[in-house]
Amino acid sequence: MKARPPSATELRIVAATVVIGLVVGYVLGLWSALSGWLKELWHFLGASTSVPNWLLGLLAVCAIIVAGWLGTALRPTRDARPRSPISTQDDFFNIRWRWSYDASGGVQDLTPYCRRCGHRLVLQDVGDDRPAGRYECRCDRCGTVACEIDCPVEEFESRVLQKIHETTG
Ligand SMILES: [Zn+2]
Repeated sequence: MKARPPSATELRIVAATVVIGLVVGYVLGLWSALSGWLKELWHFLGASTSVPNWLLGLLAVCAIIVAGWLGTALRPTRDARPRSPISTQDDFFNIRWRWSYDASGGVQDLTPYCRRCGHRLVLQDVGDDRPAGRYECRCDRCGTVACEIDCPVEEFESRVLQKIHETTG
């Protein structure tokens, strides 16, 4: 029994696939660039049997670079997000900080929380009885020592603000 020849529908599907592939390639601007490289590659392959492998490899790498460059250049600009979403929570100095932004974009309501249990921490300056001006920031609920602070609370919070500005850019 003879093999059934491809039906008109199947041929149409193949033709449509090829056409769509060509059109998509053309639209992406890759086809013209790639075909140049492929032609050159084919020329080398056909003209000589002693084409050095490094040259073929170089051509392949060049084609990949060109394709990648074109892909990047043609990517819609809306993909370039202006900025990552503004975070209102982050961990600095082993403390979870939450804050919000006022109308002018300044950080407000900067509040420390325990990273382990989520309890709100109270940062307090201590008296002169502590040695060397260092004191612990301890969670009242779970007893975790979040961090040791070696400066006044105001200065500590300004360091956190600096971290926030660095992180959120
Ligand atoms: Zn805790």
